[in-house]
Amino acid sequence: MITGTTRLLGIIGDPVAHSLSPVMHNAGFAALGLDMAYVPLHVAADDIPAALNGLVALGFRGANVTVPHKGAVLPFMDWLHDDARLVQAVNTIVVDDHRLHGYNTDIEGVRYALAQACGDTLVGQPALIVGAGGAARAVALALARMSMPLTIVNRTASTAQRLVDLIQTAAPAVPCRSLPWVDLTAATTAGQRLIVNATTLGMEGAGKVPAELVDTLTAGHVVFDVVYGHAETEFLRRARRSGAETVDGLAMLLGQAASAFELWTGQRAPLEAMRRVLVR
Ligand code: NAP
Repeated sequence: MITGTTRLLGIIGDPVAHSLSPVMHNAGFAALGLDMAYVPLHVAADDIPAALNGLVALGFRGANVTVPHKGAVLPFMDWLHDDARLVQAVNTIVVDDHRLHGYNTDIEGVRYALAQACGDTLVGQPALIVGAGGAARAVALALARMSMPLTIVNRTASTAQRLVDLIQTAAPAVPCRSLPWVDLTAATTAGQRLIVNATTLGMEGAGKVPAELVDTLTAGHVVFDVVYGHAETEFLRRARRSGAETVDGLAMLLGQAASAFELWTGQRAPLEAMRRVLVR
């Protein structure tokens, strides 16, 4: 029930209609009986400054930020958490005393998803990350914190190299290298324990994860797809058929949401209630 005292939250993106965050957070607020409501906020790139001022002016408690605005909101934050600064992406905003505080909870989302599926068995194991955008930067930092040697492959080689530089600064003890996209072969995946698709490939309307990668998956791999939707992605379906263990993007979505929920409410997120609305 929305009342005269309800605190508002929302998700800023373009598009946002597909987002599962409203249903997930509203389920969480309902489970704890919190007087809060979460709404989709479709914002075009040119309107970001006005939208952020609007959050403050309208008394929002905060917001999530999604594709393609996670980097664009950064300069408008009054305060940035170190992780958001490191990966140059804000996915969670907390409004406190008319000030915008920027966080990145995607990193915690990655840690949560992998810990739920694999416990601590991936610590120190080698990983291949395909992609070098915002999600890939969060994945790389989370994996580096699990002491996992990293190989990064991206369509645009210079962006992959920038991510390698980021990891070498943030986690100098963790080996991290980039490889050209053409090296996405069985030779590259052999010897990896974890394979991550951190590109947009596999999203509705985007292309497919290349066969050169899909065809190299084996029962020895854990395969994690950050892309999520209402059905299992084709990449994960193929991975499962190869005998690989799979981790889906919904687990990461839940993990990042739980962390954001706790920042906004000061309360532990009711994970079961939030997970239930994501079940396919
Ligand atoms: P982004 O910053 O725009 O990065 C996109 C990445 O995909 C880049 O590495 C880009 O390569 C690559 N790419 C795009 N089109 C490609 C193509 N045709 N061939 C090869 N590579 C291509 O986007 P993002 O924020 O990282 O988001 C990536 C995905 O992660 C989205 O599906 C998003 O919904 C998902 N995500 C999920 C969660 C979750 O909680 N599960 C959280 C965050 C994001 P170039 O550098 O060459 O352009």
